[in-house]
Amino acid sequence: MEAQNTALYRVDPRFKHEVAAQPGGDNLQACFACGACTAGCPVTEIDAAYNPRRIIRQVLLGLEEEVLKSDLLWLCTTCFTCYAHCPQDVKFTDIMGVLRNMAVERGYVHPSFTQRLEDADEYCQSMRRRLALHLLKDKDQAGTFDPKNAEGLLGEDEV
Ligand code: SF4
Ligand code: SF4
Repeated sequence: MEAQNTALYRVDPRFKHEVAAQPGGDNLQACFACGACTAGCPVTEIDAAYNPRRIIRQVLLGLEEEVLKSDLLWLCTTCFTCYAHCPQDVKFTDIMGVLRNMAVERGYVHPSFTQRLEDADEYCQSMRRRLALHLLKDKDQAGTFDPKNAEGLLGEDEV
C-alpha cells in the first residue's frame, strides 16, 4: 500500500468547498472527527491504512492530490455502515462517491477504471453467492470455514 505523507502534497483551501458543493457532499463540514466511521468499517478491519476519518480530515485540510490519487479511495465497498454510525449525518459513503467522480473528472484514473471496478465487485458478489450456497449444503451440522479451502470450493460445479 502506498505511503501516507501529507508533507509532499499541496494544500488547496477550495477543495472542501468543491466537495461540499456536490450532491452528497453537503454534510462534509459537520464531521467532528469522532472516528465512529472508522471503528465500524469492514475495510479498515482488514487494512488499517484505509481510514474514513482520516480521509475526511484530508479533504477538510485541502489535500486534493493526496486524496484523489490515493489507491485507498477505491477500497470502500459502499456498505453504508459508516453512514449508519455517524452521529453527525456526514454520509461518508456519499462523499466517497463524490471523491471518486472527482478523481475521474480530474484525470487521476482513466474513465474505464470505474467500469472495471464495478465488474470486479459483481464478480466478488457472484463468488460470495457460490460460496454461501456451498456452505448451506451442511448448514445443520457443526463446522468451520477455512479460507485456504475457498478456492477449491469455488472450483466445484455451479450450485
Ligand atoms: S463518524 Fe461522522 S463525525 Fe465521526 S469521524 Fe466519521 S464522518 Fe466524522
Ligand atoms: S461504506 Fe465504505 S467507508 Fe463506510 S463502512 Fe462501508 S466500506 Fe467503510
